[in-house]
Amino acid sequence: ETPGRRMGYAVVGLGQFALNQIIPSFARSRSSKLVALVSGHRDKALQVAERYGIAQTNIYDYQTFDRIADNGEIDIVYIILPNALHAEFAVRAFKAGKHVLCEKPMAVTVEECETMIRAGREADRKLMIAYRAQYEPSNMEAIRMAREGDLGKIRLVTSDHGRILDPKVPADQWRMVRALAGGGSLYDIGIYSLQAARYITGEEPVEVSGRISSDRSDPRFKEIEDLVAFQLRFPSGALANLTSSYSTSPVKRIQVFGSKASLILDPATEYERHEMVVKTAKEERRVQIPEDNQFAAEMDHLSKAVMEGREPKTPGEEGLRDIRILQAVYQAAREGKPVIL
Ligand code: NDP
Repeated sequence: ETPGRRMGYAVVGLGQFALNQIIPSFARSRSSKLVALVSGHRDKALQVAERYGIAQTNIYDYQTFDRIADNGEIDIVYIILPNALHAEFAVRAFKAGKHVLCEKPMAVTVEECETMIRAGREADRKLMIAYRAQYEPSNMEAIRMAREGDLGKIRLVTSDHGRILDPKVPADQWRMVRALAGGGSLYDIGIYSLQAARYITGEEPVEVSGRISSDRSDPRFKEIEDLVAFQLRFPSGALANLTSSYSTSPVKRIQVFGSKASLILDPATEYERHEMVVKTAKEERRVQIPEDNQFAAEMDHLSKAVMEGREPKTPGEEGLRDIRILQAVYQAAREGKPVIL
């Protein structure tokens, strides 16, 4: 690795998450730099370019996007579009010879995920899914403690992710449209509950069950689901009890119950605040982990993986696994019986 070398990123989609979290986080990165913008709104792109010192010649729209093939400054394309557009732009980025960082959920269908993985392989480029929690220090410490036996044998993981979907918020408008979002609370934030169960246990579920409750008279839930409660069974015998909701007050919590101790991470998946408590029969201890910018850490992880020719920790296969499981949750809820994976 050349010291100080940075990979050039093109951010695709200048929405809430890109503007408020990702683009400002390049200032905290060590191996990544923002070099190009892709947007359907040129005025907005010009303003962002001005603010972050991006050359006007490095602004693209969704039609001119494929011309990034001729831009040697761009190494990695970061896709921050509505879920149903992830696959198309990942494939076009690979065709242009670029590596891809793609927001969660990876895509809408299993077939789209497989197409993305295949396109990356054929282009010999890296594909990473932006599972930021796996690059966040408190979650990484929880994973370490679970894996190294600090909590004893892991028997149960519970995780809840909920918030109120607000039709007045632009970012929530496409989330109510199935053709753009692919699913409701499960796809958007239930995926954090699922990720937690998988990264804490380090296992893949063998059985899934689920229930969905949506008030179809509420205009928000004409096309997508609201409340989901789902359970996973793991080969070790561990269980996960997981939820997602678009109609309850905010929660972003992970709890791990082991034979020696339990761990509560609450909030677990905030942008910049995490609190962790470990409890045993005798004591309750707060675990203080210094906060770090998880978005910069995530981008730098991919930048280093590209520079060193390694696979990232959360490749396309990891995104595909989650989409398969989320689809099984929908099936289990539809059929009213568990699905064996
Ligand atoms: P926004 O609606 O705020 O941003 C989406 C952007 O995509 C728009 O601003 C627009 O950018 C572009 N876009 C292109 N086509 C469309 C279309 N048909 N409808 C709407 N927007 C379009 O959404 P978010 O930023 O909240 O979410 C974007 C992605 O990021 C999603 O996949 C989401 O799951 C993920 N996300 C991840 C988070 C995390 O913590 N990891 C947190 C929040 C979101 P432009 O105007 O520049 O063309």
